[in-house]
Amino acid sequence: MPGIIRFAPSPTGFLHEGHLLSALYVCAAAKKWDLKIHLRIEDHDQGRARKEYIDGIREDLAWFGFKYDSESIQSSHFDFFQKVLDKLTAKGLVYPCTCSRKQLQSENPVSETGEVIYQGKCRTQAAPCSGPHSLRVVIPDKVINWHDERLGDFAENPKNQCGDFPIRDRDGFWTYQFAVCIDDLAEGITHIVRGEDIRNSTARQIALSQLIADTCQGDPDVPLPPYTRPLYLHHPLIVDSSGKKLSKREHAYSLRQDKDRGKSPQELLGQILYKAGFLSDNTPTTLEQAIATIAGRL
Ligand SMILES: [Zn+2]
Repeated sequence: MPGIIRFAPSPTGFLHEGHLLSALYVCAAAKKWDLKIHLRIEDHDQGRARKEYIDGIREDLAWFGFKYDSESIQSSHFDFFQKVLDKLTAKGLVYPCTCSRKQLQSENPVSETGEVIYQGKCRTQAAPCSGPHSLRVVIPDKVINWHDERLGDFAENPKNQCGDFPIRDRDGFWTYQFAVCIDDLAEGITHIVRGEDIRNSTARQIALSQLIADTCQGDPDVPLPPYTRPLYLHHPLIVDSSGKKLSKREHAYSLRQDKDRGKSPQELLGQILYKAGFLSDNTPTTLEQAIATIAGRL
């Protein structure tokens, strides 16, 4: 059976160059390893996801000529997420955290990457809690050894990276970590290719996926396969002239704005290959050429 790779944008804005590069890497990996491509719209954050962005993602991918074999949207899985949460809760693996953002910052150490390392203050809070709270998962104190196809080997303990982390946030929305782990499991994802900025999440996703799969194993209410660790590859990001990565907030035209300014898909593809260091100039490039160029360097 062929493996499955996913491209998983969040509809919290229109696609920009960073997404385009990710989509190209995903297609290149699919070409190299002969994989099916799955498009997953990650609209777990219902406070920020918008319908116009969901439509925009599909339109922009089609404009470039991207093809995928299957598609899903996270909001159609929320009932399933709740069932998984109930299973974890029944096993005592979830607890409410009432700490405010300010408390989290002042009461916990912060990692090198600026993340709060939650020390588990609310873990022993026995009373049922009212008022705003997130739900945190009890993450095992264990080093995760994992391999990245480009970056090599890592040994990381999520307990020391971030501690028990939220699977539902204070606004009642499913978190990225929880949603992505369940969907990757449920959708049989075998290959994960994504930007380097998410590399830091890998160990905690491996730990949480294992926990979810083990907890749900054999329960027909939450049919999930046993956990098989996917292959990971985290690709370099496009940086601006000062070396800073481009993000939705800080930058940069959406692809749709470029399109409205009269750019063709081929021009934008040439431009992105140039910016990502695959070409020495920004000669227009077809989608097939762009994918083949990146596949040749994987
Ligand atoms: Zn707390």
